[in-house]
Amino acid sequence: MSEGLDVPALFGSDVFNEATMKQQLPADVYLAWKKCVTTGSQLSLDTANEIAEAMKQWAIGKGATHYTHWFQPMTGITAEKHDSFITPTGDGRVIMEFSGKELVKGEPDASSFPSGGLRATFEARGYTAWDPTSCAFVKDGSLYIPTCFFSYTGESLDKKTPLLRSMDEVSREALRILRLFGDRETQRVIPCVGAEQEYFIIPRDIYAQREDLRLTGRTLFGALPPKGQELDDHYFGTIRTRVGAFMKDLDEQLWRLGILSKTKHNEGAPCQHELAPIYTDANTACDGNQLTMEIMKKCAAKHNLVCLLHEKPFAGVNGSGKHNNWSLSTDAGKNLFSPGSTPAQNAQFLVFLSAFIAGVDEYQDFLRCTVASAGNDHRLGANEAPPAIVSIYLGEQLDAIVHSIVEGTNYTEPEKSMLRIGVDVLPPIARDTTDRNRTSPVAFTGNKFELRMLGSSQSIAGPNIALNAIMAQELGKFADALEQAEDFDAALQTLVSTTLREHQRIIFSGNGYSDAWKQEAARRGLSNLASTAQALPTYISQKNIDLVTSRGIFTETELRARYAIHLDDYNKKLGIEARTMVDMALHQILPAALRYSRSLCDGLEKKKALGIAHKAERAMAERLSLHTDALYDAIETLRYSLKDVPDNAEEAARFYRSVVIPAMNDLRREADILEELTDKTYWPYPTYSDILFY
Ligand code: ADP
Ligand code: MG
Repeated sequence: MSEGLDVPALFGSDVFNEATMKQQLPADVYLAWKKCVTTGSQLSLDTANEIAEAMKQWAIGKGATHYTHWFQPMTGITAEKHDSFITPTGDGRVIMEFSGKELVKGEPDASSFPSGGLRATFEARGYTAWDPTSCAFVKDGSLYIPTCFFSYTGESLDKKTPLLRSMDEVSREALRILRLFGDRETQRVIPCVGAEQEYFIIPRDIYAQREDLRLTGRTLFGALPPKGQELDDHYFGTIRTRVGAFMKDLDEQLWRLGILSKTKHNEGAPCQHELAPIYTDANTACDGNQLTMEIMKKCAAKHNLVCLLHEKPFAGVNGSGKHNNWSLSTDAGKNLFSPGSTPAQNAQFLVFLSAFIAGVDEYQDFLRCTVASAGNDHRLGANEAPPAIVSIYLGEQLDAIVHSIVEGTNYTEPEKSMLRIGVDVLPPIARDTTDRNRTSPVAFTGNKFELRMLGSSQSIAGPNIALNAIMAQELGKFADALEQAEDFDAALQTLVSTTLREHQRIIFSGNGYSDAWKQEAARRGLSNLASTAQALPTYISQKNIDLVTSRGIFTETELRARYAIHLDDYNKKLGIEARTMVDMALHQILPAALRYSRSLCDGLEKKKALGIAHKAERAMAERLSLHTDALYDAIETLRYSLKDVPDNAEEAARFYRSVVIPAMNDLRREADILEELTDKTYWPYPTYSDILFY
């Protein structure tokens, strides 16, 4: 990267964004696109043809030779299939062509994407449809067209379609509330998301030597090094030169793609870092986060580094998550979670706040399920990330306000009558800067909610679909009640206070890591779904099916497909991890320990023959033998347990959780003891010290 980078000129230069469209499209075509994006109106094929032509010209100017419909299958990754623009002219030459039809619809051969039973393989057609609300871009010589992915019968096979549906729903219901408060201008309410992304960066040569990292993205073995993160010397610390160069390059690439990369710093664990973008609408944020994760990996490789996005690459130090900052904004940019300064503004704020509290309480299990994965099981509830129990942290001031509304007491001056919503002025609610309460899974941070349960490798679509859906649901119920009301202020007072009273159990300000909270949460009737195997079945409970089907976000079949895929993913990941452990233990760890043990015994023999003391050799050989035997047994136990995994996916998940994982833990314990006992020159792969403190 050159000195004096012109960031404003660089930013979005590889994106066919609104400014570019305005410049490159005929005025009527641009206006038709704009109308389509703001009101959801259809684009004619003529318009699509003109957009396609302009896109192609622009992309070719950026060095593109191909185009691809870029989509986000249900597994949470991204997929692409590239077609070149070439069209034969019949005389042995080609011209570059791209039609509106090709822009709007595609048909990748999609038979090998997991479909959760939605699409039989014999009927393998999957279609992609252009999403005109997210911008096309050029990357690696291709024009990327963000698309929705669906089956022949119209079922959504991706993460984008339900996200867009959920955004429409929450907008529709929020508008009903805004109208009740006299807002006539707002045409659309937009869920806004800023996803802070954590990741690890390690040297490529070290990574290459570890089969577990290569096959599973995390270390399955590894004794803890003498130093971990106890000195807190990494958090916000100076960034290593190599990593700094990577980050600089990464920012440049992200900016080119119009991703608002804003903040970068070291995180708690050695080799751990974070990137935070400036928030955008949820759809753009989701595309942006997918691209960010992909580019992080590619960019690291360019710098001879490896980016680990796994939730728990190393035992004993923090894992990685994603903080999903979420709020609702009007099309004019007014944040609906900003407390206002007039009684009406405050009342409106309290309506949105109560709806959020009610929704999270009612659908806590649904929210929990959207972050359930094999990787995230290492974090949630493991005293470094929020617990698996969902609760909301409001901060001291808002807590007191909620309390006063519930109790019917006045918040500020005890001698005054109770606070009347919509009539009295609330005190200004300051952004809570005192206690950020890192242990809370959902925290109100002044004008947005921060959902901290996401795993670092997950798509942010799932949790945001859930947040939009539950918010739409509660706002819809509120609007139903308020639209009927004869006395609006009285109805408002009743609605807010009743809602807060009914759902206040979800509010919790204390230490989420404590055992006392587990007991307290159980007393309050909050669910504690500690693992993916426990959580996932609740995803398809009748209540959750009703939520998403009544709002048209998923059909029941679509929801069940997601469930099947999440379950399958959990089982497959654990299967791979377990088999990798067996492989490494049998072919690397056991042989290394036996070789060392043999050399000890040889030395012992010689010393014995010479009549020299040999206490150390004897004791070490003894201990090694004890643990190599135990290792062998643990390998066999794990190997045999894998033969018993049930065919049924739900039973398999429970079996992995209750039988395979404990066997994996036993094997790791023995292997890690052997690592501590064995001469380092015998050890087959880099240790935690080698990796984390390179
Ligand atoms: P902090 O560092 O205190 O967590 P920041 O203000 O730096 O908070 O924001 C963290 C993330 O939240 C960023 O991605 C930011 O863009 C995003 N964010 C800020 N305001 C909002 C909002 N109103 N809605 C959604 N995300 C937001
Ligand atoms: Mg944060």
